[in-house]
Amino acid sequence: MNHGAKTLERCEGDGSSKIHRSGGHVRWSKGVDSGQISPDGRIESDVGYSDGLSADLADIRSISRGTADTDDTFASPPLSMLDSVSAILNALASGDASARQITEQSLEAIAQTDPKINAVTHVAAETALATADDVDRRRAAGQSLGALAGVPIAIKDLICTTDMPTTCASRMLRDFVPPYDATVIRKLRDADAVLIGKTNMDEFAMGASNETSVYGPTRNPWNHDRIPGGSSGGSAATIAAGQVPASLGSDTGGSIRQPASHCGITGLKPTYGRVSRYGLVAFASSLDQIGPMAWSAEDVALLLETIAGYEPRDSTSLDTPVPEYSKAIQSSDLRGIKIGVLRDGLEQDGLDESVRKSVTEAMQVFTDLGAEIVDVQLPHSQYWVPTYYVIAPCEASSNLSRYDGAHYGHRSDADIDPADGPLLSMYRHSRQEGFGSEVKRRIMIGTYALSTGYYDAYYNKALKVRRLIRGDYDAAFQQADLLLGPTAPTSAFALGDKLDDPIQMYLCDLYTVGANLAGIPAISIPAGLDDSGLPIGVQLQAPALEESRLLFAAAAFQSQTQFHQLRPGKP
Ligand code: GLN
Repeated sequence: MNHGAKTLERCEGDGSSKIHRSGGHVRWSKGVDSGQISPDGRIESDVGYSDGLSADLADIRSISRGTADTDDTFASPPLSMLDSVSAILNALASGDASARQITEQSLEAIAQTDPKINAVTHVAAETALATADDVDRRRAAGQSLGALAGVPIAIKDLICTTDMPTTCASRMLRDFVPPYDATVIRKLRDADAVLIGKTNMDEFAMGASNETSVYGPTRNPWNHDRIPGGSSGGSAATIAAGQVPASLGSDTGGSIRQPASHCGITGLKPTYGRVSRYGLVAFASSLDQIGPMAWSAEDVALLLETIAGYEPRDSTSLDTPVPEYSKAIQSSDLRGIKIGVLRDGLEQDGLDESVRKSVTEAMQVFTDLGAEIVDVQLPHSQYWVPTYYVIAPCEASSNLSRYDGAHYGHRSDADIDPADGPLLSMYRHSRQEGFGSEVKRRIMIGTYALSTGYYDAYYNKALKVRRLIRGDYDAAFQQADLLLGPTAPTSAFALGDKLDDPIQMYLCDLYTVGANLAGIPAISIPAGLDDSGLPIGVQLQAPALEESRLLFAAAAFQSQTQFHQLRPGKP
């Protein structure tokens, strides 16, 4: 079928699945839900939607570690194949599915579910189908294909793509279509992945709830009244909603791991420099990392080995060989591995009992797998959040100074303020109109902390504390191979809950920012559900460049547990 055809129609099952193209709009429809994608690729969302999608608790409780039955609610194969990269690769290799079919399923899932969850900011239907057709053609001709050939992948909307806008969910970059691809995008294209679209996020990746987006909040597929986490909330929700099997996010202080935890998926923040930041719109350059998100550690490994590696145009990218991460996960014997637990962290105020329980149960799983649990100390952990919230805003205020309406970004056409003169007035209005309030707050904090009178007291001091934090990790990794703890202090909270209280929002990062400050890799894996059936993740951290160790332990955990196989209940 030609992707440019006026009307696309495919029938499966009940035959009611249709893709229509008419009047410049593409409409997918199936059953009661429908979504509309405008010519610029944006989805038109239902307004004010809110209903609970939480999974049935009785079913959830029947799925405990190692004893999951095959209850249809969760264990049945998905309606589509969209929940496993490796299953898609196998189906494509064996001829059980075509890349076009998989891509159409993904587009259809987006059209069905996105009006309710608002995870996707741009859908690249035409180019995705063209890539899929190309993969199918080359496979039929017996040509060689890349490692992710035909796999739909969604991209956080702060990673530069030449064929899609890159807006950072900000009015400031609303119309920005980059003139170049980020390194990770080039690598995904080289691997023949199907880039399906861009995902919603907190504006300029500042936030933990996905509520600061200019497109409006993303809703958690497990319960539409809850946040999906942030700032890569769209990248997590698109997977949890069954739209794509994998996505890319970015993590400056927890933005891959925390939404992964809230959406019941697996998310990995690589070592600083392991994945190139070339083409990643900068938030805080010494902390930012791009990383993969998917249901399982196995799929995360497949993505990581595709996107990792040296990039000469990024002076912070590491020139060390990329291991075959997917090979690292082939054993589940953890004998000889020491896993450190920070007991103080488990006693912390604000840590929800359900999260503490999940960490404790995870300790038991790792023990059963042969690992030894040891106590470790990270004496400066109480300074993680304050240190992060000095360094990150300082770097952000510097990075975001380029958006002034002249060099980059939205240019105001407001009247000139006589007191400011034409240039200053244009800068002032452009920044006033282009940035949202959280971004402005960070710029002000950073500018203040970097100003001559306060530089030593705040920024310089924070750099010294950062050094101590790194030292703590060095010492802890003398005693343990991996560290285990919570990913987030609670499960997903209600939309609007913390929006007016930045300090409460910042405290969501309690357990994640340490890894960014130290530059080490960390992964969040699904490890439980709370009393309302919302997912809970636990976090593993490893020394720099030991992603294989993280993935190995995560996959071992997933070989003994079913939490990564749970799916949101049906509406
Ligand atoms: N929640 C943190 C913040 O708001 C982390 C964001 C991120 O990792 N991009 O800064």
